Amino acid sequence: MPSEFPDFRLGTVLATSFTGTLSERHGDSVERIPTPQRLVDWLAVSGLAVDSCTAAQLELARELRESIHAAATAAAIDGALPAPAVQVINDFSAQGRAAAILTPEGERQWRLNPASRVEDALGVIAADAISIIAGERDGKLALCASPTCRAAFFDTSQSRTRKWCDMNTCGNRQKKARFHANQRKSPRSAGSN
Ligand SMILES: [Zn+2]
Repeated sequence: MPSEFPDFRLGTVLATSFTGTLSERHGDSVERIPTPQRLVDWLAVSGLAVDSCTAAQLELARELRESIHAAATAAAIDGALPAPAVQVINDFSAQGRAAAILTPEGERQWRLNPASRVEDALGVIAADAISIIAGERDGKLALCASPTCRAAFFDTSQSRTRKWCDMNTCGNRQKKARFHANQRKSPRSAGSN
């Protein structure tokens, strides 16, 4: 993989891994699919391999991504779902013609049509978003506690108390920030009280 592009943050949930291709939305945002080829790469590692992707298809992907982000964020805070975002998600889901295929090993794979691979892949992602926003799966949508991130993620922990979208990035940064804040605080707090 070309190293000039930011790495992917891959989670176990397709729809929120996809929204995670743009991170730090409330800080210095990081676009992890800056080129059509990077979307091809992301789809490949996400079980939705496509041959190629145009600039227009990348734009479609980003439109879906931001719509999922908006709807998932609303769902995470029990707010009303934004109608335009719902419309976009539904349109992509309806347009996709991917078929679920059972492999001899008992695993599910997606079969995409040669003529509409990117659109079919986006349809699978839209349907995945619908299933988590509709509460069909075991887990709960939540927002990352990092103020510069606020990514919507799907919390499948038993206690439903996960705080960060990603332990290795947001979680770690938050822990370090708290550590440094405590270090700064300690000389002062030693003198007072
Ligand atoms: Zn985060």
